[in-house]
Amino acid sequence: MNDCYTPKLVDFSFDAAESELIALALASEKPWDYKPASPEEIARLDTVKERILTFHLQRHGWTCCYCRTNLVGAGPFMTDREHILPKGKAAYKALSYQLWNLAAACKRCNMQFKRSGDGFVVDGNDPAAYLASQNYRFVHPNFDKWTDHLTRITAQVNETIIVKIFKSDTDKAKYTYDFFSLEELEVDSFDAAQGLAGSAVKGKAATEFLQIAADFGQ
Ligand SMILES: [Zn+2]
Repeated sequence: MNDCYTPKLVDFSFDAAESELIALALASEKPWDYKPASPEEIARLDTVKERILTFHLQRHGWTCCYCRTNLVGAGPFMTDREHILPKGKAAYKALSYQLWNLAAACKRCNMQFKRSGDGFVVDGNDPAAYLASQNYRFVHPNFDKWTDHLTRITAQVNETIIVKIFKSDTDKAKYTYDFFSLEELEVDSFDAAQGLAGSAVKGKAATEFLQIAADFGQ
């Protein structure tokens, strides 16, 4: 397993009580949605999930693992705990609490594009392959370094946010860009930048940003 982020996956651990609870959850029909019997255990499992989310957000600088949208202070309505190999498929259920199969994603990437399919997996039948970067067509949130494949530059001019995303010449860059429709983020922002042209100061800021972004992307 190639771990590309810090804190490292090996630095996260469950204590004895948490491990016991997770074992019970994994034996249930829907491990991630498992509801323990006692209020104490419910609280403990909630805490585990919070810890996992915070851990993955830290690893990705509090941005979405797929598109790099800023998730600082975004809260639960914008942030999802993401199961990379989807927890709804029987083959992946046992991975529900595996840190390498978890990440933090924005709602747009998770709900609109990622959803519950696994078309991005090269071989979904060989558990030994699950731990290999090359078994995933997109940039894996734990096994691949996002910046080896994509670069996102964001500028905010008052209420207008301008985004540019550059692709490296890799198959994973192209696949991720298409799979999560990252072009949409840019199209919206391009229109926004055009809208700024009405004001000389704001237009200048937008134009200069797009120039800096273009230079950076080369
Ligand atoms: Zn996203």
